[in-house]
Amino acid sequence: MPYTPKSADDRFVLVTEVGTRDGFQSEKEFIPTEVKADLINALIEAGVTSFEATSFVSPRAVPQLADASQLMDLIVRKPGVRLTALVPNARGAERAAAAKVDMMASFISASETHCQANLNKSIDAAIADFNEFAPIARKFGIALRGAVATAFGCPFEGEVKIDNVLRIIDAYMAAGARHVSLGDTTGMATPPVVTRTGEAIRARHPDAVIALHFHNTRGIGLANVMNGLDLGIREYESSFGGLGGCPFAPGATGNICTEDLVYLLHECGYETGIDIEKLAAVARRVQEVMGRELPGQFMRSGPRLKLSSLASIRRAVG
Ligand code: ZN
Repeated sequence: MPYTPKSADDRFVLVTEVGTRDGFQSEKEFIPTEVKADLINALIEAGVTSFEATSFVSPRAVPQLADASQLMDLIVRKPGVRLTALVPNARGAERAAAAKVDMMASFISASETHCQANLNKSIDAAIADFNEFAPIARKFGIALRGAVATAFGCPFEGEVKIDNVLRIIDAYMAAGARHVSLGDTTGMATPPVVTRTGEAIRARHPDAVIALHFHNTRGIGLANVMNGLDLGIREYESSFGGLGGCPFAPGATGNICTEDLVYLLHECGYETGIDIEKLAAVARRVQEVMGRELPGQFMRSGPRLKLSSLASIRRAVG
């Protein structure tokens, strides 16, 4: 039967919270470093063990993330909690290593046009930059993660060639990155595309630890997760409240929402180690910080067996 864990060992799904990086990145108003750290610390309390916390890109390019080193200092480190940061080049890798990140993530678009728009360089140049900084991570014993953006489609080029995705993953694996993440940067994945892409990567790199990063641009982010689970993929990236969107992709809306994802996983018999009520409380705090409602649903509705008083439900047919 699909969509259910095969065994107890197969039950754990790692949820990586990307809200303070992917979510906050496109916010114009600077969010104080202490606020970002408090949110991460509260999520660690709620049982979240993996974060894409920040990015060591040029502070001028992304002012919102210029506080990467200070943020890393304010996070209360706990054994078993993995803090990942995006790293674009050797200079960023030196800063990330000094800030004692647990994992450095490279970021390359599988679409040449998106790569130019997002990183201002070609795919080959981005691979060359990765090959330059990978030894820095290795020197400090820091794990490497290779992210492929627009892995399921590109708003400028349409369908993305699987060969482009594989070429980038080949480079990552060759340089010692066992972890790869497939990003649906502009919400173009569908369940069949997820299955097709996942199977192609599995066939070529059976040892790769694959994570999936979906956006809910067209409302089927969590449906895509179901196909990922079916492929045996056990890591998903999501953002508190569903915050986020790529500033270099037209029409891109938020990441899939962490609370909604965790709710789905728990209801399907998977374990995350996360206390969903505490998680929802953090998402509501994020709404307060942002001063607006976020798309997450669970934080409004609660679990399915939360009973309502008769008077509180509008009785109508339809
Ligand atoms: Zn994203």
